[in-house]
Amino acid sequence: PDTVRLGGVGFGYAETPDVLRDVNLILPAGSFHFLTGPSGAGKSTLLKLLTLAERPVAGSLELFGEDAGSAPRSALPAFRRRMGVVFQDFRLLDHLTAFDNAALPLRLSGAKLDSYSADVEEMLDWVGLGSKLDARPPALSGGEKQRLAIARAVVTGPELIVADEPTGSVDAVMGERLLKLFQTLNKLGTTILIASHDESLAERSGATLLRLENGRVTGGAA
Ligand code: ATP
Ligand code: MG
Repeated sequence: PDTVRLGGVGFGYAETPDVLRDVNLILPAGSFHFLTGPSGAGKSTLLKLLTLAERPVAGSLELFGEDAGSAPRSALPAFRRRMGVVFQDFRLLDHLTAFDNAALPLRLSGAKLDSYSADVEEMLDWVGLGSKLDARPPALSGGEKQRLAIARAVVTGPELIVADEPTGSVDAVMGERLLKLFQTLNKLGTTILIASHDESLAERSGATLLRLENGRVTGGAA
């Protein structure tokens, strides 16, 4: 089945109704998409629907071939466990070390430290944080926090990765390295959606380009 299917989705806030008016979006399994669009267009809002932080007020939302838009709250964690999310504001836990932040989803899933510590270290090394395993987020730079957030999102091997401006705080060289990470995970079969202002990165990514404007998504398969 397609990893994501949105049909006629509408959503807004009390102060800003109609952020999303009629969003139709299909992300086939194993696809790689970039979502661009002006600041305030609703990219982060659309990602909040995909990660089930908010529910559509109109239309349908299917994840992994199952109805998620109107599923009971008790069913949401099972959907969320199948995705890795990079938030625009990172959402790291300041009292945990970089290692423990990255390892948290694995620990919460009940896995034993022995079974994942090498993978977590390897991933942190890959994003250039190999010397910062014991550092806590307040002692990391903005770009380091962003890379830690990415490591945490991908280390579980999710079927779907949703990343909001994942290269917004890093320099161009690190941006390319992170793009390569997403490309590699996509080649291994992961469905990826990245929201980004960075149109040149989007164009270089080889991903299908989508654009969110006036409450609608254009481009792609939908
Ligand atoms: P950016 O590129 O700057 O990250 P974006 O495309 O991600 O922008 P959103 O953050 O989704 O845009 O915001 C879309 C619209 O919804 C904006 O007008 C914003 O002010 C409004 N908005 C976002 N979050 C909330 C909220 N929690 N409450 C009320 N309005 C909100
Ligand atoms: Mg945003």
